[in-house]
Amino acid sequence: MSESIAEELGVVPIINAGGPNTKHSGSRPRPEALAAMREAAGSFVQMDEMLIAAGKEIARLIGVEAATVTSGASGGLVVQAAAAIARDDPDKIARLPETDGMANELIIQRCQRFVYDHLYLGAGARFVEVGTSEGSTPDDISDAISDRTAGVIHLESPFKNRGSVPLPDLVEIAHERGLPVLCDAASMLPPRANLRKFVDQGADLVSFSGGKGIRGPQSTGMLLGTVDWVEYARLNNAPNPTVARAQKVSREEIAGLIAALRVFIGEDEAAETSRYRRQMELVVDQVAEVPGIRAVVEHDYDHYIPHAVIYFTPRWRGPDGETVRDMLMSGSPRVYVSPTFGPDPGIQVDALNIQEGELPIAAERVRQTLIEASAGENLPKASGPK
Ligand SMILES: *Cc1c(COP(=O)(O)O)cnc(C)c1O
Repeated sequence: MSESIAEELGVVPIINAGGPNTKHSGSRPRPEALAAMREAAGSFVQMDEMLIAAGKEIARLIGVEAATVTSGASGGLVVQAAAAIARDDPDKIARLPETDGMANELIIQRCQRFVYDHLYLGAGARFVEVGTSEGSTPDDISDAISDRTAGVIHLESPFKNRGSVPLPDLVEIAHERGLPVLCDAASMLPPRANLRKFVDQGADLVSFSGGKGIRGPQSTGMLLGTVDWVEYARLNNAPNPTVARAQKVSREEIAGLIAALRVFIGEDEAAETSRYRRQMELVVDQVAEVPGIRAVVEHDYDHYIPHAVIYFTPRWRGPDGETVRDMLMSGSPRVYVSPTFGPDPGIQVDALNIQEGELPIAAERVRQTLIEASAGENLPKASGPK
């Protein structure tokens, strides 16, 4: 087998046992997506026609009113903000991100602030933060609405703060004042039911990644919603000369997303879940005997597919999870696992990207590394100074 370009360049491949994280190259595009990309690259289209037709097909496949393609879910956030501020006004669309004199405020719940939310600001929006880091109330939202408000933000994400205003209530408040609800649900697939859930609950634009669980091209995403709001989004998006012009998505990426989405929607979720669960049980079995850890399979709102979660208990004598993850990434083969994102420290294995034959190798390296770490005298201790 010939070397990949990455290997030629001296970039050592990793076993991705940590899930579809962009910094670790996302997910494996499905074979059907790659075939569709190769095929689409061979001919030219008018991009507006392609985007409109692709949006219709995505909406039909999912069963929502309307859809359009964005560059990742984060590209979708920029476009959501632009749509909320400029709608279909050509002068405003041309002026963004300069928003002087426009209703440019987006209401965001303090307990829903997250690492990517500044993308909304890229379109020229300003945040009006409401509530506390613990939660917010419907009154916090309605009190913050003024004639400068352009929209209301809602986040669906693992370990989302449970104190936020429920989406249906947020929708009621926003719609009463003629405002859109902009939802980021980037990583909430599977379950496939989520494809429609947040739109059904009334969100006007919902942003999903195409390169996570769907396994389309890494650069893709989609906005789902109502006919009007999706059209505002499209007008504010590339390839038009707008604030989002740098976020282009090519015809072959659009084709790849549609091909991947067709396969994703057609898959048997129950069978997929039990396959992942069996794989993760194998990982749990491998590490169960290591002193000071608690290993469990978790599959819930915070874990979109079954994960093998390894918690460090107070009896753990080794270094912290970050050091264990560094050890896994520096050994051979290099194994990427993700940190736990909840309150309890640990590391977790995500089944999505683990390829045929890699599971026993990854599980064995995790076991060996934990044993080595728990016995290692000269490694930094979890509680001690780094
Ligand atoms: C992954 C993620 C994003 C970014 O999605 P991309 O498709 O990588 O652009 C945005 N928001 C949340 C909550 C995410 O989990």
